[in-house]
Amino acid sequence: MKASVSDQNNLIELQRIDTAIMQATHKLKTLPEHEQLTAIQTRLAGSAELLATAEVQLTDVTIDLRRSEVDVESVADRMAKDEARMSNGSTSPKELEQLQHEIATLAKRKAELEDSELEIMMSADGAKEKVEIIKRDEEGLKQLELEINVRLENGVAELEREIQLKKSERTLLTPKIEIGLIDLYEKIKSNGGGIGAALLIGSTCDGCRLVINAVEMERIKSLEADEVLRCEECRRILVRI
Ligand SMILES: [Zn+2]
Repeated sequence: MKASVSDQNNLIELQRIDTAIMQATHKLKTLPEHEQLTAIQTRLAGSAELLATAEVQLTDVTIDLRRSEVDVESVADRMAKDEARMSNGSTSPKELEQLQHEIATLAKRKAELEDSELEIMMSADGAKEKVEIIKRDEEGLKQLELEINVRLENGVAELEREIQLKKSERTLLTPKIEIGLIDLYEKIKSNGGGIGAALLIGSTCDGCRLVINAVEMERIKSLEADEVLRCEECRRILVRI
């Protein structure tokens, strides 16, 4: 096959454009933000579970606390009533003794209940703090998610712009190359991992990076400049510099 030197050079330019499109398309699919977002979503799901558990604990301990407050109040009420009876002056000495005894028992009970109330209060504070910490973490994660989404959108837009630009360059370039050469290039490119044409640098094929043997190099040198070369190893179109 024959093609002008200009066609062959344009083909190398076309390869550069296609490689750039291929790389940008690959980048688009593998932007690190995709993975980061997945990781954040996993953490958010974990956080939602933790929050649900912590909120149930907080509700339980709040109910315990109210119950304990009611217990303390009822003992305090009974003590107040007993004290009122004692001070109204109409109680007999025996009743007075009974009341004193009951008040002492109630005071002891009240102290115990207050101790337990204090413990529950501390648990309630702990549970509240836990809920707040999880919520703060969640807010932080959501903020980060927003930021990454913005970065992702910008990254995608930039790469799409680049791909669009390269595609326009391609549209302008292809009519300058003989169709037969392009067809051959496309065929090799689809089987050759996106590379259809490569430069011959010294005696190395820039497509497969293998050195061409001396005999083949001699043959290449004897060929006209418009002869389309193919690498013996990778079969790609070789363009002489
Ligand atoms: Zn090669």
